[in-house]
Amino acid sequence: MQSFVNSVNVEHGPDEFETTDGLARWLGRNGFTAADLGEPDRRDAVALREALRSLLRENNGAEQDTAAHRVVEHVARDCPLVLRVGAGGIALGPAHDDVRGALGAVLAKVAEAATDGSWQRLKACQEHRCEWAFYDRSRNRASRWCSMQVCGTRAKMRVYRQGKREQGDQG
Ligand SMILES: [Zn+2]
Repeated sequence: MQSFVNSVNVEHGPDEFETTDGLARWLGRNGFTAADLGEPDRRDAVALREALRSLLRENNGAEQDTAAHRVVEHVARDCPLVLRVGAGGIALGPAHDDVRGALGAVLAKVAEAATDGSWQRLKACQEHRCEWAFYDRSRNRASRWCSMQVCGTRAKMRVYRQGKREQGDQG
C-alpha cells in the first residue's frame, strides 16, 4: 500500500505512473503482469493512488474528502477480490494477476488494515511539499511528518519565521 502511494515522490518526482511503461515496470516489480495494460488503467491507477493519499491525509487530521471516497469505491468496482485459502491462512486477494489485480491487492491491504486497526496509523506527511505515505509508530499515534528530521524541522522553522515576522509587525 505504502509503496503504491509512494510510487511518486511529490516533492522531487519522478512519477512511476506517468507512462504505461513506468506502470508496467512497477507491476513487474510487484509480481503482476502488464497484460492488456492501457491508458484507462494508468489513469485509474493514478486516480486511486491520489484518492488513497487523500484518505491518508484524513488519518493525519485533514478534513474528509468525500470525492476521494467515491473514487476509491469506483475503481474498486473493476478490481474483483476473491477468497484465498492456503497454508498461510485465509485472506482476500486479487482475482487476476494483471493491473486490475494489482489495484485490487492494494485495496485488499486497505481493507485488512482497516480491520486490524493499523489503518489509522497510515498517514500522508503533513508537509504539503512532501505528502509521503508513512506508518506512525508513535505510542500516542500523534506523528504528523514522515520524518521529524526533515519535514518536522521544515514545518517548525516556518512557524518560527512566521512568529518572527508577526513580532516584527507588532514592533
Ligand atoms: Zn514528509
